[in-house]
Amino acid sequence: MTTTTTPGTTALTNIASLVTNDPSLGDGTPIGLIQDAAVVIDGDRVVWVGESSKAPATDNAVDAGGRAVIPGFVDSHSHLVFAGDRTQEFNARMSGRAYSAGGIRTTVAATRAATDAELSANVARYLAEALRQGTTTQETKSGYGLTVDDEARALRIAREHTDEVTYLGAHIVPPDHADDPAAYVALVTGEMLDACAPYARWVDVFCEKGAFDGDQARAILTAGAAKGLHPRVHANQLSYGPGVQLAVELDAASADHCTHLTDADVDALAHGATVATLLPGAEFSTRAAWPDARRLLDAGATVALSTDCNPGSSFTSSMPFCIALAVRDMGMTPDEAVWSATAGGAAALRRQDIGRLTPGARADLALLDAPSHVHLAYRPGVPLVTAVWRAGERVH
Ligand SMILES: [Zn+2]
Repeated sequence: MTTTTTPGTTALTNIASLVTNDPSLGDGTPIGLIQDAAVVIDGDRVVWVGESSKAPATDNAVDAGGRAVIPGFVDSHSHLVFAGDRTQEFNARMSGRAYSAGGIRTTVAATRAATDAELSANVARYLAEALRQGTTTQETKSGYGLTVDDEARALRIAREHTDEVTYLGAHIVPPDHADDPAAYVALVTGEMLDACAPYARWVDVFCEKGAFDGDQARAILTAGAAKGLHPRVHANQLSYGPGVQLAVELDAASADHCTHLTDADVDALAHGATVATLLPGAEFSTRAAWPDARRLLDAGATVALSTDCNPGSSFTSSMPFCIALAVRDMGMTPDEAVWSATAGGAAALRRQDIGRLTPGARADLALLDAPSHVHLAYRPGVPLVTAVWRAGERVH
């Protein structure tokens, strides 16, 4: 990977179509599409966007060659601090065979056994992989340590690579606490939280049958909030349950998965400040029914798309892949899917400075080898991201 910093102002010109995500710009749609556009960058910020013919003079220019530019993707949900491999589990599932290995527990054992250097190298590898596909902001979580030391270690390592770090000590009840889940919740809300809070911005819980119920999830999120961590929730992935309503009630930034929703859940998301983050890589990789993005959008909810990159249920770092699935199978238009993968992810992280290309925003851009952002869904599986800038630096 090469990094290039250019002093002075730089204009990216000859952009066939530019997604700004500012509805006051361009065609007046939510993605604020400008044709024949230019973007001017100064340092790490966007300072001007508009029609190429009106661009101000700059110190440097880069010719986009009549291709499309979009904001860098904001992937607001991943699990990158892990070791080991679950190829056999996936292969068995896709071959229709029963597979009784321990799922998340398999990854927990491998992660505990790994060195700091191995875990850090893994995070760096998957972040680089995502960056090449246009992801300029990546949230990631702990959740494969499940001891005080292993969770704190995971977050310390994550923190070396990204600012968006989430404490997920409440991923599952580990085998060593299987007989006494209440004692594990006490650990997650006590000693483990104290050790982890300095490294994290967010607290998360897997609210699901077989993981943590509504009362346990409330205790975990409330304890995290008291330590300055803002809530987000793994909610309603495998079954109906209290996760979404709890997320909205506690003003969580995001309720993630949202695959099994009652009308009351949809209504709560539509009227609350909590983003509904959909993770179609998980349904793809487990052959599960898709979340209904159309239902959420029609109700007025804010929808984000994210990869859920993890070795068990969604081992993809590709936001373009998630966009293609969302358009093909979840009722989203290409415009909506691109918005959700950029501005939607920013909303799910409560960030104003990313996910849009307007003056003052961080200069995070992806140049597509295509004339339009629609090609992200129209040409699934094709590596269309051809250049990436993050904070004004060309990083790919
Ligand atoms: Zn997850």
